Amino acid sequence: MTDGSDSAALRARDHAVLWHPFTQQQAWAEESAPVIVRGEGCELIDADGRRYLDGTSSLWCNVHGHRHPRIDAAVSEQLGRVAHTTMLGLTHPTAIELGERLVALAPGDLSRVFYSDTGAAATEIALKMAFQGHVQAGETRRTRFAYIESSYHGDTLGAVSVGGIEIFHERFRPLLFDAIKLPFGDADGAAALIAEHADELAAVIVEPLVQGAGGLLVQPDGYLRALRDACDAAGCFLICDEVATGFGRTGTMFACEQEGVAPDILCLGKGITGGYLPLAATLATDAIYDRFLGGVDELKTFFHGHTYTGNPLGCAAAIASLDVFEEEHVLERVADRDRQFGALLDEHVASLPGVHEIRRRGLMCGVELLPHPATARAGHQVIVEARDRGVLLRPLGDIVVLMPALAISAAELERLVIVTAEAITAVSERLGVPSVPRPLAGRRIPS
Ligand SMILES: *Cc1c(COP(=O)(O)O)cnc(C)c1O
Repeated sequence: MTDGSDSAALRARDHAVLWHPFTQQQAWAEESAPVIVRGEGCELIDADGRRYLDGTSSLWCNVHGHRHPRIDAAVSEQLGRVAHTTMLGLTHPTAIELGERLVALAPGDLSRVFYSDTGAAATEIALKMAFQGHVQAGETRRTRFAYIESSYHGDTLGAVSVGGIEIFHERFRPLLFDAIKLPFGDADGAAALIAEHADELAAVIVEPLVQGAGGLLVQPDGYLRALRDACDAAGCFLICDEVATGFGRTGTMFACEQEGVAPDILCLGKGITGGYLPLAATLATDAIYDRFLGGVDELKTFFHGHTYTGNPLGCAAAIASLDVFEEEHVLERVADRDRQFGALLDEHVASLPGVHEIRRRGLMCGVELLPHPATARAGHQVIVEARDRGVLLRPLGDIVVLMPALAISAAELERLVIVTAEAITAVSERLGVPSVPRPLAGRRIPS
């Protein structure tokens, strides 16, 4: 990118007024981040006309590619009717239809849909719903929550209270409620703690199968099932936060299906609209919902809501996205991509000298680099190298995240993996990693 380009001018204006999320602004001002003006399928196009493969599906949201004609049309049609109307005291057909579709798809007895607008809101709602639900069943001692080590449920204070990523969460500790941390991957240890706190637990919250922001941590088989059983024994709820794993990401529509687990409360976000618009949903069972029924004067109402709850444009995009899942047999195609992804990673990435471990489930993959000093910013260097080769990635520290849209083609997936391998090789050489191919140090997730 040359100075004096359209991108450079826009970047200068960005640097003058904007404050980006999870970004050290001082370093941001020195970077030449692409200015994206258009999207097409799995590619994004910048203000200078450069095309990039969107390797993290616009932060794990995009499902069917950018500008999918079906979803574009559904949003335009809804725009021709009304862009926003409230769910407080009114309703609208798009929210109703989406609610019916979600209930039909959701596992187990989930039968009620409470809308919001971000994943963090969906998890906050789940926590408040669980707590109030117990209180209204006379279980007033159930005021505590348990979460899994290294988990992530969003950035609002309730969600952070059940978050387990030290560098994001620890500094806010004085503002947070005290929650119980369960060991990652140790089903017996987690079950023992749940049993120990059985009388005071309102719910256990978990990202099923893969803990995303914590570093693409893949839980061992049986872990989620064990949590479900422990919650049943303790009489508390299980909240599955499928904001990242939902909508086909791990190969099934919802990750919890793979363990035959149905939660009491399910949180959805990110991919719900195909990655188009900010919409989220918290689904609950009738058993919970019924606890909120009563005369208006009984004050059993769930006192929570957001201005843009159930936004019609978002709901229209979500319905169209579900249509695309059916019409284009998306989950079948994901099974092919899943196998191909495993083979490509084995061929091009697994034996690279700079790679410590590959963790993957479906189209959710983290490539952890060998440890480097934080000041080396190895993960960041890899994404800069990949960007120069036309692929956009976003690291989590020294973990390179590969999270393409489910719609990625075989050729694009190959390009994604090969460019990642080239970028890691370039950075490993620069950082002086000995160039001897080495077996992966840690646990490999089978293809
Ligand atoms: C991204 C994410 C959230 C938060 O969603 P936002 O829309 O960013 O608030 C919550 N839970 C999980 C598992 C996530 O990956």
